Amino acid sequence: MTSINSELIIDPKIFRNNILFLKNKLSNSSKFMAVIKSDAYGHHIEHIVKDIEDLSDGFGVVRIDEALKIRELSNKKILLMQGVYSKEDLDISIKNKFDLVVHNPDQFQIIKEGNYYEGLWLKLNTGMNRLGFDIDTFLRIYEEYLFDKKFTLMTHLAASNDVSNPSNENQFKIFEDISSKLNNSIERSIANTGCIMNYPNKTYDWVRCGIGIYGGYIGNHELKTAMTLRSPIVNIRNISKGDKVGYDGRAVATKDMKIASVYLGYADGLPVTIKDDTPVMINDQMAYVFGRVSMDLTTIDVSNIEKCSPGDWCEFFSPELPITNIATSNDLISYYLMTSVKSRVKKVYKILD
Ligand SMILES: *Cc1c(COP(=O)(O)O)cnc(C)c1O
Repeated sequence: MTSINSELIIDPKIFRNNILFLKNKLSNSSKFMAVIKSDAYGHHIEHIVKDIEDLSDGFGVVRIDEALKIRELSNKKILLMQGVYSKEDLDISIKNKFDLVVHNPDQFQIIKEGNYYEGLWLKLNTGMNRLGFDIDTFLRIYEEYLFDKKFTLMTHLAASNDVSNPSNENQFKIFEDISSKLNNSIERSIANTGCIMNYPNKTYDWVRCGIGIYGGYIGNHELKTAMTLRSPIVNIRNISKGDKVGYDGRAVATKDMKIASVYLGYADGLPVTIKDDTPVMINDQMAYVFGRVSMDLTTIDVSNIEKCSPGDWCEFFSPELPITNIATSNDLISYYLMTSVKSRVKKVYKILD
């Protein structure tokens, strides 16, 4: 080891395989928008654009600076999901041919004043109650300004990964009722990853797929985790039954144990709430978090690992150790873990063997 650093290895082949798997579920007429907001869920937006451009019909982001970054790399459709908040935003968007989400009357006012009706995605609130037009407001605007325009009608599901949740059917029904009242040239988009997986007959004209690309969708083992978060062991010590490890002595040895300290902490993006017994992998064997995550270090019970030494890697998630496991066992979501990794972790972009 020359200099000690934790690493985030990102494998583009895995994105590609995940996308091919997801696209297989779509009907031929559905187009695939890769949602790469928030630096591609922490996977580095510039790299991913190049690596998946041929498999995608468009890219979805939230922030305008990310949309601009993509435009430098690709001529594909770019959907600015935050929409515009000012005349300047609109000017930039027109110049760069961004598609725009319009989610409330204030945004529509800016569009109207700019008299710009290309590539609009009108967002309906069908029950999530976050963004989106109320139904009545939307219909009023439609009848006055949009009845003869081409646009995409969209909404977002609140619980697409849970088929037992009745909100899905309610949202579909509201969406379908409204869209049946509109002119025939309207495109429709409702599906995120969970909807592609659970309601493949609702993929309509566009799917907006994020977490599945990165392998963080819960409940499917064919979608692989594309990032490997790993950190070197920097110390190993033996402790005796009754000894305590780490801050507040949270972990108490119930037997004589071997404890490895690895060079990754909450300042690197590993949540401080990670629980004891969370599995990690060292030299292809399972080991377990033992003691509270510190700022720069995490302590691991390596008592069962026959051979490990300083310099060996400890993996927190990887294609073989799904990020959904660590998320679920810690009451977290994979989206959160992916977007938490901090810049001081070295990013390595390569195809793993
Ligand atoms: C983030 C986002 C998506 C992608 O959702 P996933 O669950 O990651 O597939 C789709 N649509 C909108 C509006 C989003 O904000």
